[in-house]
Amino acid sequence: MVEKKVVIIGGGVAGAVLAKTIQHHANVNLIDPKEYFEIPWASLRAMVEPSFAERTVINHREYFTKGDLIVSTAINITESEVFTADGRKIAYDYLVIATGHTDPIPKTRTERLDQYKGENTKIKSARSILIVGGGPTGVELAAEIAVDFPDKKVTIVHKGSRLLEYIGAKASRKTLKWLKSRKVDVKLDQSVDIDSFTNETYQTSAGESIEADAHFVCIGKPLSTTWLGETFLKDDLDGNGRVQVDEYLRVKGRSNVFAIGDITDIQEIKQGVYAQGHAKLVAKNLKLLIEGGAKEPKLGTYKAQAPISIVSLGRKHGVAQFPFMTVIGRFPGIIKSGDLFVGKTRKELGLEPNAKKS
Ligand SMILES: Cc1cc2nc3c(=O)[nH]c(=O)nc-3n(C[C@H](O)[C@H](O)[C@H](O)COP(=O)(O)OP(=O)(O)OC[C@H]3O[C@@H](n4cnc5c(N)ncnc54)[C@H](O)[C@@H]3O)c2cc1C
Repeated sequence: MVEKKVVIIGGGVAGAVLAKTIQHHANVNLIDPKEYFEIPWASLRAMVEPSFAERTVINHREYFTKGDLIVSTAINITESEVFTADGRKIAYDYLVIATGHTDPIPKTRTERLDQYKGENTKIKSARSILIVGGGPTGVELAAEIAVDFPDKKVTIVHKGSRLLEYIGAKASRKTLKWLKSRKVDVKLDQSVDIDSFTNETYQTSAGESIEADAHFVCIGKPLSTTWLGETFLKDDLDGNGRVQVDEYLRVKGRSNVFAIGDITDIQEIKQGVYAQGHAKLVAKNLKLLIEGGAKEPKLGTYKAQAPISIVSLGRKHGVAQFPFMTVIGRFPGIIKSGDLFVGKTRKELGLEPNAKKS
């Protein structure tokens, strides 16, 4: 029997789990602009401890051993083909879009590991550090630096009225208090123009001066769906650029095109653990469709998950948003902040949880 062709666009949290799970059930093509998968929520630890990235930056070939890996960017799709930036045309029976967020990071694992070493040198050689953005990335980076390098002066400038706006106000207040107790200066309701840098000083929109000899921009990355606006799926994007999906995670009204991960319009907070759940459901549905033959199979359905999120605060603490409770301190730290779910994520990909590859 001729194997069905499944094309997965995006080798991030969702795409990697799907590629690993479905590779022995179809002829799978995974398209990603880089040769590796990276555990996104471990990237801030890798900046203060570059060797941490040896377990968190994983060549796609380590877990995706059977199908074809295409290291390029998808730039267009039709109802039967995907076109890539390097000029390839790939036919599909089933398409899964898992493009998450745009993130211009290096193509090879070695380059990425070197990038972390460079960022670590930048942190170590700075006396004062400006972090632009008080979302999860800015908060986690500030906390990593404050814990590992307590002598550095860290300032967060955030244009919103509270930190971590994607979770509850109580979590924001507790996080602010925690950061202040570690001498992190937090400036809310202000923005900063990075180009305003003169004499080691930045100017904020409120007219304040911030002394810093290094800065990191930690503002949310845009969704990687703009390119779909020129394709046959252009009417399937909502006002926020998210892909509208049905309960089977198929793009609404399409029988052979699925979307998973942060790009979907599912009403839940955007978390990797949920993106992995989408991938597992779509793997199951693809197997049913592929193995079902002529018979119309009964596909599995997805239910939006309750709002749960943990933001790490250095190596031992964290702030957790549960549906009816917010907790800060050691308990969420024990769940997330030590290993940052790295062993667990590696296991999901069928890899040794603790192995280091240099
Ligand atoms: C600081 C921080 C901490 C977090 N902590 C947690 C946590 O503790 N637990 C948790 O569950 N979640 C956490 N998250 C959220 C989690 O990282 C995301 O929800 C998750 O990465 C979404 O997965 P995804 O596969 O949809 O997208 P991504 O992981 O963003 O992957 C998208 C992939 O698609 C590729 N791509 C993009 N465009 C194209 C294209 N046109 N063609 C081909 N490939 C393309 C990208 O290069 C990338 O590889 C955290 C996020 C941040 C920023």
